Amino acid sequence: MSSKEKVCRDCKRFVQGNTCPVCRQSNFSRSWKGTVLIVDPEGSEIAQSLSITVPGKYALWVR
Ligand SMILES: [Zn+2]
Repeated sequence: MSSKEKVCRDCKRFVQGNTCPVCRQSNFSRSWKGTVLIVDPEGSEIAQSLSITVPGKYALWVR
């Protein structure tokens, strides 16, 4: 697993650019564990437990 990708600290989303497309912030962390791919937030218990409303790739734990 690569830990070089950066994750938004607010919504735990993996971000490619300089700002999070969900939060529009640049509060990133490279200390994360686990990944989850959310395709259907409304139909996913994981998404609801993580308060994810936008489809995408997220980390399960972010420091
Ligand atoms: Zn975010």
